[in-house]
Amino acid sequence: MKEVTKYLAHPFLLAMTLLIAIVGYDHIAPFVLLLLLLITTLTFLFLLEIYIPYRPDWKMLRRDFKEDSKYFGINVVADNLATITATSVAMYLAPEAMSLPIYLSIPFAVLLIELVGYIIHRASHNPGFLWQVHSVHHTPEKLYAWNNNVLHPINVLLLKFFRLGSLLILGLDSKTIFFATSFALVQNYISHTNADFKGGVLNYLIGTPELHRLHHSVKKEEALNYSGVIPLWDMLFGSYLYKEKVETIGVHNRSQYPIGFLSSLKYPFLNKVRKIKVWMKNIQS
Ligand SMILES: [Zn+2]
Repeated sequence: MKEVTKYLAHPFLLAMTLLIAIVGYDHIAPFVLLLLLLITTLTFLFLLEIYIPYRPDWKMLRRDFKEDSKYFGINVVADNLATITATSVAMYLAPEAMSLPIYLSIPFAVLLIELVGYIIHRASHNPGFLWQVHSVHHTPEKLYAWNNNVLHPINVLLLKFFRLGSLLILGLDSKTIFFATSFALVQNYISHTNADFKGGVLNYLIGTPELHRLHHSVKKEEALNYSGVIPLWDMLFGSYLYKEKVETIGVHNRSQYPIGFLSSLKYPFLNKVRKIKVWMKNIQS
């Protein structure tokens, strides 16, 4: 039974959340429906992380849940801020509505947001400010669904602003945007799960935990697969990798990176603050 669950859980969860979204869209407010999708996805993943754990030593502890929830809280704010900003820009530009049937507009929207996300994510793995922001997501040394939330709010702001902004500027309708962004949200939690999902052929169609664990590998040559939702852009741009197992995840020289929520938030700005202090000292002397 466990072996069958490992292969069927991912497609079953996607089918279930899609059904909830289709049935609920015309009857429930989008915000409530999104919350329902999130709760369904996380409940399912939390139970499977107990039933079929990939690594028992990666179990989410109570203190992990508390710490990751702080990121969830601040990132809800960052997400809303980016939504307001992107919507304001789109309203100012007043784009023409794109007239595509829904069965084409949703795949198009998924491809587009994943391309934008891919570019930002790949750029964030180069040394510099973007990496200091993004490294917060790579410091955990274990993966499970809830630590998908461990992201610096600037990371969330950037991704949300450019991904949503691109959909709005092209004039895609609200139903398309809801389905495409909800699919991405569900997929991002799934790709971080510690449940031992076996992707099989899915590893070439959508983002799976097997692919995304490699992205979190300490080994630079394994830390590819920049898209957690669909692997297409990784395949086209030569950053796709499939391996059954990953040994160690996290960052090189972990001691150089901050520990804890507040230190992580401050981390990208520490160098800037140091430079300003030196500059002020020079002026005063
Ligand atoms: Zn990354």
